[in-house]
Amino acid sequence: MPDAPAPKPASGPRRAMERLGLLRPIDLALHLPLRYEDETRLTPLRQARHGETIQFEGVVVSNHIETRRRRQLLVSLRDDAGDSVQLRFLNFYPSQQKQMAEGARLRVRGELRSGLFGREMVHPQVKPVDADTPLASALTPVYPAGAGLPQVYLRKAIAAALPRAPLDELLPAALLPRTLPPLRQALEFLHHPAPNVSLATLEDHSHPAWQRLKFEELLAQQLSQLQSKALRAQHRAPVLRGTALVERLLAALPFELTGAQRRVGEEIAADLASEHPTHRLLQGDVGSGKTVVAALAACVCIDAGWQCALMAPTELLAEQHLRKLVGWLEPLGVRVAWITGSVKGKKREALLAQAASGEAQLVVGTHAVIEDKVQFAQLGLAIVDEQHRFGVAQRLALRRKLAERGLEPHLLMMSATPIPRTLAMSYYADLEVSTLDELPPGRSPIVTKVFALAKRDEVIERIAHEIGQGKQSYWVCPLIEESEESDLQAATATHAELAELLGDDRVGLLHGRMKAEEKAAVMARFSSGELPLLVATTVIEVGVDVPNASLMVIEHAERFGLAQLHQLRGRVGRGSAASVCVLLYNGPLSESGRERLKAMAETTDGFEIARRDLAIRGPGEFMGHRQSGADLLRFADLEDDAPLLVAARALAPKLLAQHPAAAQAHVQRWLGGRAELMKA
Ligand code: ADP
Ligand code: MG
Repeated sequence: MPDAPAPKPASGPRRAMERLGLLRPIDLALHLPLRYEDETRLTPLRQARHGETIQFEGVVVSNHIETRRRRQLLVSLRDDAGDSVQLRFLNFYPSQQKQMAEGARLRVRGELRSGLFGREMVHPQVKPVDADTPLASALTPVYPAGAGLPQVYLRKAIAAALPRAPLDELLPAALLPRTLPPLRQALEFLHHPAPNVSLATLEDHSHPAWQRLKFEELLAQQLSQLQSKALRAQHRAPVLRGTALVERLLAALPFELTGAQRRVGEEIAADLASEHPTHRLLQGDVGSGKTVVAALAACVCIDAGWQCALMAPTELLAEQHLRKLVGWLEPLGVRVAWITGSVKGKKREALLAQAASGEAQLVVGTHAVIEDKVQFAQLGLAIVDEQHRFGVAQRLALRRKLAERGLEPHLLMMSATPIPRTLAMSYYADLEVSTLDELPPGRSPIVTKVFALAKRDEVIERIAHEIGQGKQSYWVCPLIEESEESDLQAATATHAELAELLGDDRVGLLHGRMKAEEKAAVMARFSSGELPLLVATTVIEVGVDVPNASLMVIEHAERFGLAQLHQLRGRVGRGSAASVCVLLYNGPLSESGRERLKAMAETTDGFEIARRDLAIRGPGEFMGHRQSGADLLRFADLEDDAPLLVAARALAPKLLAQHPAAAQAHVQRWLGGRAELMKA
């Protein structure tokens, strides 16, 4: 039997198109122009301004190659009104010169400039025409294209694909905002806009055709989030109710809850009493007191006879929680197990056994450990600290913990990075959100100062002074791009330097490579006040809580992200003493570096910081890729298109209720397999 012919490998422009993901007609239909060229009309030279790109027609009056300075082809052209312009070509073929022979009529498109010898165009596009050659009937699209993909080829491919692309209207017209055209019409328009349209509205994407497209994808996102929420409502969770332990905790706490803590506590208690798994995001600025809210939730769960897991991103943070939670809960008789990567051997097995038997009522550890290693007898509630959004894989892993009983635990995610409103409305549409919008009383505001690195010595003197006053400080070492190794070197060097200046027994060192026990020992000495100064890498970024620390120095602050700076700064200002955060930078600053430091100096409000961070970085980076699905928004911009987002958000539940099949088809069209990414 003869071999079947090997499929011919796509070559040239076809390959280039495939590389851009332009495979199916729909891909081509959704590949939209970056801008347009107006070849629909001719502009008399007399009316054109310098610097303007125009199209005109004229007859060649002279054509010669000039060789005196640099070899170039000079062609003089006169338009029908008698005005002339010179075309200049530095590279040209003989055939081009022939094409532009005296007496030829040319249609020319280019930028009009004023040159040494009057008005000129350098390397314009030129086409020989007759007096009656028709003009383009639509604006000419210019598409994003990689190397090896000529515009003409792409234009033809798109024009051919457009009628074949499945673009039937899925959404009932009556439910759509009235200003939006049907999808097919919108796309046909964007690829071939009519001559008289305002280019500005096309290029800034405010034209109704663009709006329709953005609305489509925002709607798909809303629908898929609602679907995942609806799916969750079909799953079952243990009903957790209990007040006795909560009351005992409240009586034992050395402070009164803030109004916000009380309100959020009640919202969470209502979740836990539901027979369906609830996923809630608790956001509150650094220091707003999320840990005690977590403790209250844990109490409800444990009181109801179920286990609670508390997960933190790092061991250091896990240890901090343990200390605090154990301090609060153990005296009430709650049995706590701490399981992290560094607990090994027999001890680890014993702890795992306690979790598996249900003997441990509260299990504290890092995400990784709890997801992978720990089996629970009956997990009722998982609390995830300092995570915007628990990843899909992680949520699925949790679900599996109780799978055999057909139950799913409730989930509470806590984040110190407040989520700007538009992000909350789009990416968190499937979550309940609570906000701690009130700080515990008695906090004094943090003053932030930005200095050039040249002031480093003065800052060290200031620390010596603080130490004399019995105050404590942090020194955060520069972030070093290359590796964790270099971060470590920077920290050890700074530690050695400061220890020599200020006294060996006064300066502690904390970094990511230390063993958990070593870290814990240093933290304990700092917490007790024995060590006045702690030199640290960003391991202290989240959750570290030493109220007596009132000064923080961040060296090379320009290297840190805005959210990270805000988190770090949140380590001070936790007690009643006035606190200072010093940002030392090494210039010259980049544009965004300057903006970050400026934001830090201007505000301590986490919401404002998050808003500016979003503006500086955009949603994809802000949320961390993949996990967020932020990169799935191709056309819409959350800030600019907030009104469309609001409209999509209003339409989604109606569509799901009244036209479920259309809703499903819409999600499929826009998200296809990727819908899974946004769920769970
Ligand atoms: P975060 O929200 O950053 O996790 P924490 O839970 O670590 O904040 O709380 C910060 C500090 O405020 C801790 O020392 C905590 O004990 C204290 N705290 C929490 N709630 C209150 C309150 N209602 N009154 C006084 N202090 C509080
Ligand atoms: Mg915290």
